[in-house]
Amino acid sequence: MKIKDLLAKETLSLSFEVFPPKTESAFDSIKHATEEIAKLNPSFMSVTYGAGGGTSKYTLDIAKNIKELYGVPTLAHLTCVSSTKQTVRERIADVKAAGIENVMALRGDIPKEMENQDRSGWAYRHAIDLIRELKEDDPDLCIGGACYPEVHPESVNQKEDLRFLKEKVDAGCDFLTTQMFFDNNLLYNFLYKIREAGITVPVIPGIMPITNAKQVERAIKLSGSFMPQRFKSLVDKFGTTPDAMKQAGIAYATDQIIDLFANGIKNVHVYSMNKPDVARKIVENLSDILGK
Ligand code: FAD
Repeated sequence: MKIKDLLAKETLSLSFEVFPPKTESAFDSIKHATEEIAKLNPSFMSVTYGAGGGTSKYTLDIAKNIKELYGVPTLAHLTCVSSTKQTVRERIADVKAAGIENVMALRGDIPKEMENQDRSGWAYRHAIDLIRELKEDDPDLCIGGACYPEVHPESVNQKEDLRFLKEKVDAGCDFLTTQMFFDNNLLYNFLYKIREAGITVPVIPGIMPITNAKQVERAIKLSGSFMPQRFKSLVDKFGTTPDAMKQAGIAYATDQIIDLFANGIKNVHVYSMNKPDVARKIVENLSDILGK
């Protein structure tokens, strides 16, 4: 099923993200975790893609499993920045062969060793290059793009970021998924601005449940997200007690999701990080709201 059709439904739903293993030996445990999450009956599940290609070969295996064993629609991520045309063409053919109907088309983070290179000769400089290629190859493919309520870290300002986002959507994005954020007001402001910029596709807010103190540092480093005082206090108070931190982090994420639903959002994407217990708890917390 295409995600753009799921998003047109009026029901409230959650989708979950998982990431593929780095090594063959971890494949079975991650396959098990993704299957446990799939049993929660999410609207869809996304499977990330290693920008450097390290875990790329498992992305489709996991996505295919979720779809075929549990009938859950899947969104396979694909990045392009450090890839050749040949590699990307092969990956697109693999996506088709796996019967995947939804692709999250991303640039990917620029590998450290490529940061100072002259980019003029690169096969792919931005996600839009990949989106154009995917659309040309199969106009029917459902394509998602990434967006950043707090501005992409490389952008000079939000105006520029939104200008490029509009171009990216016009090139063929059917929907957008946001980077994580911990203050819903940032999302509401962002939605207002993108609508004003003429971007009308559905936007899926991405929520990361923070379940241990270490994850906070990683999340800030990765996304540059603003941490509201309410969230900082929670980490200060419970960060050294793992079970309490986990409970508080799940409660915080649940709270964010309830507020999003209450303000008209229909599907929230949860960065569930291969943690079925966390995903399950969130679904349980929202059982009456989701009608499950
Ligand atoms: P782009 O849309 O290309 O944007 C990157 C920067 O370039 C922005 O500053 C933008 O304003 C600017 N820009 C865009 N177009 C142009 C243009 N034409 N000219 C000049 N500047 C331009 N990474 C992974 O490696 N694997 C994953 O599976 C993965 N999944 C993700 C899922 C989501 C929902 C999100 C939000 C991020 C994900 N990432 C993933 C991280 C992502 O790859 C990085 O954030 C990356 O730095 C940017 O990717 P993008 O597709 O947003 O890039």
